[in-house]
Amino acid sequence: MARRLDTDRLVIASHNPGKVREIGALIQPFAVAVVSAGALGLREPEETGATFVDNALLKARASATGSGLPALADDSGLVVPALGGEPGIHSARWGGPEKDFALAMAKVEAALAGHADRRAHFTCALALAWPDGHAEVFEGHVFGHLVWPPRGSRGFGYDPIFVADGDTMTFGEIDPERKHAISHRAAAFRQLLAACLQPHAGGGAGAR
Ligand code: IMP
Repeated sequence: MARRLDTDRLVIASHNPGKVREIGALIQPFAVAVVSAGALGLREPEETGATFVDNALLKARASATGSGLPALADDSGLVVPALGGEPGIHSARWGGPEKDFALAMAKVEAALAGHADRRAHFTCALALAWPDGHAEVFEGHVFGHLVWPPRGSRGFGYDPIFVADGDTMTFGEIDPERKHAISHRAAAFRQLLAACLQPHAGGGAGAR
């Protein structure tokens, strides 16, 4: 059985304002005040893991240890099967040191040239870590395909080139409410809420 979050303060172990905003919105219905790792001046650890789950754990544990509070980290990215799973855990790096996602999207499009298979999915691993080292991890996905040119300016990262299955608008164009309902982050979040914030309903990838 997953450990419950029995605190009224939670650190969001991210320095990415887009993610802090989305995670803040997802957790808003619960009586938990969130503070970002950036606002606490916590160092961002090197993402040296081989998987989304490894990297989420690494970030959550660094913030939990550094703050003495439970910390929630997300590691996420765009997985393109025709590119052998890239950008994958390197999604942020494809934008270069400036985190330029116009550049990252153009690189994905250039790499995809000549491929008929334009399927892609976003994956999100969420790790909730406590200062004593205990952690719970959850993983969510949203499947779709890539379009070109980029469309819409409502999301962040690769949103303007991603269309979820069953939709015609990109994640950059759709209402943020809809993205919050169907996204990889929302899917992982639902598992976290069921396991750690609501009466136990099972699920999740389990304790580490
Ligand atoms: P990290 O999890 O901070 O290593 O970075 C994940 C990267 O994946 C982000 O910088 C974005 O480029 C991309 N990404 C993750 N989630 C989303 C999303 O919901 N929309 C668009 N891009 C995303």
